[in-house]
Amino acid sequence: NLGKVRELTRLFDEPRLRLVSMEGLVPPGFEVEETGSTFEENAWKKAREVCSATGLPALADDSGIEVDALGGRPGVYSARYAGVGAGDEANNQLLLRELRETPAELRTARFRCVLAFAAPGAEGPLRVAIHAGVIEGRILTTPRGENGFGYDPLFEPVRFPGWTTAEITPDEKNEISHRAEAARAMLPSLLHWLDEPDRVTL
Ligand code: IMP
Repeated sequence: NLGKVRELTRLFDEPRLRLVSMEGLVPPGFEVEETGSTFEENAWKKAREVCSATGLPALADDSGIEVDALGGRPGVYSARYAGVGAGDEANNQLLLRELRETPAELRTARFRCVLAFAAPGAEGPLRVAIHAGVIEGRILTTPRGENGFGYDPLFEPVRFPGWTTAEITPDEKNEISHRAEAARAMLPSLLHWLDEPDRVTL
């Protein structure tokens, strides 16, 4: 997911780290099946399988949007809400249809992100660290903005009233986002692992 890679690259801008996308490092056609029922399970699965496939330490992001009026859906199914391969536009249209009758005050929602980091170990990938973040907001009735990705054009964060996360700048989104919160918690874990790769505590 290029949107995630763009954001994470800025969030992990640290001289001792170089974040690269898995493209070109995994075999052609490589894909991780997201069979977990929680963000945590899926994040671990991705980190583990990418670490195994590449022999490199792997940072995985599993994230999604939880809409209160939909009982927390689409949640872990956010990427394939309108069907596998349907895309952001179709997902956003379906969300608007499902919320057609829902008044503004009941359109509360949050993005949730879980970052998992796995590193090669003697007996396979080691679970080094996992961290989560959330951002509260609500779902608007028409999409606005060109930045970000996914549901950003429909999401008005509590901390930027009147704007969507697709209208604020990438730096502004990285100040307040679910991914930023998880990344800020993850950074010390990564640096700690760099210093002492053999002392994994999880
Ligand atoms: P997954 O983690 O690959 O299962 O997909 C996460 C999906 O959640 C994305 O495809 C987006 O639809 C949505 N999502 C996660 N984070 C964001 C965000 O920061 N903005 C907008 N949509 C997001």
